[in-house]
Amino acid sequence: MQKLGELLRSHRRRGDAATGTPLWLRSAALSDVGLVRSNNEDSAYAGQALVAVADGIGGHAYGEVASSVAITTLAALDGEIAGEELVYTLANAVQAANERMADRIAEQPELQGMGTTLTALLCSTGNRLGVVHIGDSRAYRLRDGVLRQLTTDHTLVQSLVSAGKISAEEAATHPRRSMILRALDGRRAAHFDLSVLRAVPDDRYLVCSDGVSDFLADEEIAERLGRGSPTEVVASLTASALEAGSSDNVTCVVAEAVEGHPESEMSPVSVGAVANWRG
Ligand code: MG
Repeated sequence: MQKLGELLRSHRRRGDAATGTPLWLRSAALSDVGLVRSNNEDSAYAGQALVAVADGIGGHAYGEVASSVAITTLAALDGEIAGEELVYTLANAVQAANERMADRIAEQPELQGMGTTLTALLCSTGNRLGVVHIGDSRAYRLRDGVLRQLTTDHTLVQSLVSAGKISAEEAATHPRRSMILRALDGRRAAHFDLSVLRAVPDDRYLVCSDGVSDFLADEEIAERLGRGSPTEVVASLTASALEAGSSDNVTCVVAEAVEGHPESEMSPVSVGAVANWRG
């Protein structure tokens, strides 16, 4: 992972040059409270340039506030973003979401302790894709049938796997596998990962909460992600996570990179807690 300053400099140099026909994201989102929880603390957004998932943390429905603040702040980016502005814009939006959470806590101190993961993909007019990530919601890309995880979980078990102390198999059943090491919480500086990739036509992207990725193997994600329209894929992945016994909120956003101009009938959708939020 490059440092933010380095990423900004190299990205400005490269700018928007030598790109093909502009791409947009044909996207769809679905969120389900799941089989065990009584409330849905996940929030997600699917637009033409931006897709995002936030998985809220905190009792008394405060996770809903955290994930809703994160998603509404990021959703404002869904428009034409020039390639050279991508990194700066995404980094600023995450800081802004954290500041909005801090403001909410100042107004309503009982919100202290809330937090959220945030994983978002933003496609620039130059077909570069910004990936911003904090926590354990994940982004994947399917290209030419090959699935690649674009984010690294900020979890205790991932840090143990990365240090060679436990295997990926052991991580999957580890008693503390849900413990995240980083989140947006409005109290500490936002410590997020940011990277930039090139998007090509027919790329398929999945952003999902751990209620999906903890219960589905990569092979199943790959197979379902490649089959049907984004609307069909989110339905298929959600059903599959529920069938697999997901004990968490289940949220997924799927986007396909498409050449040309967005279809006029495609309007952005917000799902999960943010869909009912009146913040
Ligand atoms: Mg979750």
